[in-house]
Amino acid sequence: VSAPTGSTREIPPPDPTRPPMQCNIFQVVRHSNTALVPMFPYTKPGCLVSGGSVFYGGPNRGIGVFNHMNSVDEVAICFASQGSGIRSGDVFSGAREHLVGSFFDEEEAPDNLMVIAVVQRQADMDIDQHEQLTFICAKCQKPISTHAFPSRNDAGARTVIPEFVPPLDTLTEGAVWAREFNEKAELRRCKECGHDNPKFPLDMWGWDAYTRAYEAAERGRELFLRLSAT
Ligand SMILES: [Zn+2]
Repeated sequence: VSAPTGSTREIPPPDPTRPPMQCNIFQVVRHSNTALVPMFPYTKPGCLVSGGSVFYGGPNRGIGVFNHMNSVDEVAICFASQGSGIRSGDVFSGAREHLVGSFFDEEEAPDNLMVIAVVQRQADMDIDQHEQLTFICAKCQKPISTHAFPSRNDAGARTVIPEFVPPLDTLTEGAVWAREFNEKAELRRCKECGHDNPKFPLDMWGWDAYTRAYEAAERGRELFLRLSAT
């Protein structure tokens, strides 16, 4: 591949507002409350977002499966894996629409484990970025519930708060969608085959825990700033 005309093949120095950071994924996922936890506090347009996950086996540890469409590419890096077709050391970029979950040969085998990072670069400012999550029928594999959303990670009015980092929309929007799916039995009934699908294992993915902790922490930050200013 030849460089575009005028290219110096130089990577510009880091944005001073986003100094380079490093972390150890095995340490991060130890205390994360969700799958795909943002490992660095950079989620805005143009940022590289590295989501870290740890999955492990055991009774009632089935993680289910869903379909994910992302308008930006994802690169998965599997650091360690046992009991899965995804092997330790695998690095891959799949289709923009892909299945997530069903990683393990035997869903609840006690030895199952996977430590994996999924890295994506957020679209630049003014470029549309969007995602879609779809639950599929466990019996006939037809789509039964779809949630589409823009991934701007701007968190509205909170964006102006000093040091504020937007949450990852994949997680907060996933929580909104899965809560509703789990509350309403009619959403879980397949229109194709009539199968009553089980609830989505939301606890396994932690989207609800992440969203609630985010909301409480940010209400705490607002309280802190208000008290500090008086
Ligand atoms: Zn069905």
